[in-house]
Amino acid sequence: MKWLKKCKTGSHYTLHEVCPEHGESAVNPHPPKFDPLDKNGAARRKSKGIW
Ligand SMILES: [Zn+2]
Repeated sequence: MKWLKKCKTGSHYTLHEVCPEHGESAVNPHPPKFDPLDKNGAARRKSKGIW
């Protein structure tokens, strides 16, 4: 899945790893603790009664 990334140089977002406008690497603006995959895994384990 692709996330919008924030350009380091400009105050805009891009889907690319490197901003096509500025040639700078774009970074993920979301905080690292936000992990939807882990949340899905926890819900799945809970539904199976593992914990
Ligand atoms: Zn840019």
